Amino acid sequence: MTSSVNIGGRDYSIVDHSYDVVVVGAGGAGLRATLGMAEQGFRTACITKVFPTRSHTVAAQGGIAASLTNMTPDSWQWHMYDTVKGSDWLGDVDAMQYLTMEAPKAVYELEHYGVPFSRTEDGRIYQRPFGGHMQNYGEGPPVQRTCAAADRTGHAILHTLYGQAVKHNAEFFIEYFALDLLMDEDGRCTGVVAWNLDDGTIHRFSAKMVVLATGGYGRAFFSATSAHTCTGDGNGMIARAGLPLQDMEFVQFHPTGIYGAGCLITEGARGEGGYLVNSEGERFMERYAPSAKDLASRDVVSRCMTIEIREGRGVGKAKDHIFLHLDHLDPAVLNERLPGISESAKIFAGVDVTREPIPVLPTVHYNMGGIPTNYWGEVLNPTKDDPDAVAPGLMAVGEAACASVHGANRLGSNSLIDLVVFGRAAAIRAGEVIDRKSAIPAINEASFEKIMTRFDRLRHANGSAPTAVLREKMQRAMQEDAAVFRTQVTLEQGCERITAIWGELADVHVTDRSMIWNSDLMETLELENLMACAITTVHGAEARKESRGSHAREDYVDGPYGGRDDENWRKHTLAWLDEKGKVTLDYRPVHTELIAEGIDIAKIAPKARVY
Ligand SMILES: Cc1cc2nc3c(=O)[nH]c(=O)nc-3n(C[C@H](O)[C@H](O)[C@H](O)COP(=O)(O)OP(=O)(O)OC[C@H]3O[C@@H](n4cnc5c(N)ncnc54)[C@H](O)[C@@H]3O)c2cc1C
Repeated sequence: MTSSVNIGGRDYSIVDHSYDVVVVGAGGAGLRATLGMAEQGFRTACITKVFPTRSHTVAAQGGIAASLTNMTPDSWQWHMYDTVKGSDWLGDVDAMQYLTMEAPKAVYELEHYGVPFSRTEDGRIYQRPFGGHMQNYGEGPPVQRTCAAADRTGHAILHTLYGQAVKHNAEFFIEYFALDLLMDEDGRCTGVVAWNLDDGTIHRFSAKMVVLATGGYGRAFFSATSAHTCTGDGNGMIARAGLPLQDMEFVQFHPTGIYGAGCLITEGARGEGGYLVNSEGERFMERYAPSAKDLASRDVVSRCMTIEIREGRGVGKAKDHIFLHLDHLDPAVLNERLPGISESAKIFAGVDVTREPIPVLPTVHYNMGGIPTNYWGEVLNPTKDDPDAVAPGLMAVGEAACASVHGANRLGSNSLIDLVVFGRAAAIRAGEVIDRKSAIPAINEASFEKIMTRFDRLRHANGSAPTAVLREKMQRAMQEDAAVFRTQVTLEQGCERITAIWGELADVHVTDRSMIWNSDLMETLELENLMACAITTVHGAEARKESRGSHAREDYVDGPYGGRDDENWRKHTLAWLDEKGKVTLDYRPVHTELIAEGIDIAKIAPKARVY
């Protein structure tokens, strides 16, 4: 149905749609959810601001974790133990158990859908070692658990899932920018509003269930491995809907971003035998993590590299980075298993990996925090009486969500498996909770008008600060003040700087007023979403008076767990944001109950995290 609406004295063309389910995002999580919903027989739409196969998942290199036992002994129990330990005991035990138990099934399903995995001699899926994944409850040698399609695993998965979703008759709305959630007065989500970038029309999608799969917000930082499209749009929508974000202070730095460019060199490079050295030629990880060495978990390796640089043992003219050596590896192995990163190193660092080391530096890579969900993908709206209360009509999956399986630190190759396990779980759950006979909800006109008033205000924003200037200010503040190492001083400064920039948003200037391919306006909408992420990140971090996983505070280092304070801080941060940029924090308990037998709970009891 087509109509028009007048907002701020200007006419907008409106197109209305009704679906059982609308998925926002066509990365690995969004496509797996879309496919699952369509398989359940739901009329399903998938909205995406970029062409599906250009979503950031396409860039995932190293692989996807599942205890298949194709190359070394393994079990879901060991995988679960590693995930719990990797999370620094902040992950929810039920979700982590679900993830690791379901992982093999989800990978075989991908294989049957047609993902071209690399193979062993005898034709099974090839698996490589990855950081923090060990045998025998962390006691044994590294386990080969990460299933790979050379170093282009995300590419292989994304293309296969897109083909499958199209085959199942899901309908795609490509290059549509989702603006905000349609919410009823009683807090139920009833749909989403999107802007068709190509012809300037506004689309109202009514649905019984909206699934947010909008990815992470790496671009809140100056140097990130993530695509420019990773702007936390779903998180922004949640904050504007009055719902909380969870554990935003936990931001992962990947040890090996290419120095200067920020592009990723996969951990698989160290999995295949690569190692880090300082200016003295020393393999320093042997000193910090005697057993796991270069394959300790990411937060640990990033901190060790930062210490080496600070203590004057960095490489290069400014002694400000570290070398990653692959030149001792067989060129045939590099060519077969790591062709993509060999190319990236050539293009972005001018390095031939068969002869020279790659200059690398810890770079923002992943957001552990996001939209709180249970392990079925249902979004939570915690209350004082019920910390697990569900927000009706709303689900979230993938990096945008916080289930929470990664807790305070994610293990490499545990994100791709999170996408497909929880994308699939959301579809199964929708099959149970959606009433197939009920009518699709009507549009709440008040909610729609609020969304359009904001849109119109930004479109005509006539202040003095260009979007790009404010964005760079935010990125620099986040890079400096919410860094690998944090202190009360840097975090308070971060809160002040980001709050000041929030104030400056009122003075933003958008130059282009058109409705068609207006990238200036789109980037401004994205900046507001990034700012919602940035401000909740710094406030959550300032309030958390301990060191845990990626949240490493130099002013909290003592105690049996090295600054981690389970008694006071083994809990999830919840952050609500109001229109004036005020952040309100509260907390909810970590889930510590198993969902099935098969693992001795004592095995995963909190202890010091050493590698
Ligand atoms: C370089 C790199 C390498 C990685 N390698 C690995 C690896 O080897 N193994 C691993 O486990 N993890 C890896 N990760 C992490 C993992 O790839 C990501 O966490 C994961 O792909 C995120 O998937 P997603 O589906 O949640 O979101 P994305 O793939 O980021 O997709 C987000 C989707 O949402 C859409 N969207 C966003 N906002 C809007 C909006 N406003 N309107 C409409 N659509 C919108 C986008 O168009 C896109 O389709 C890597 C990450 C990076 C950056």
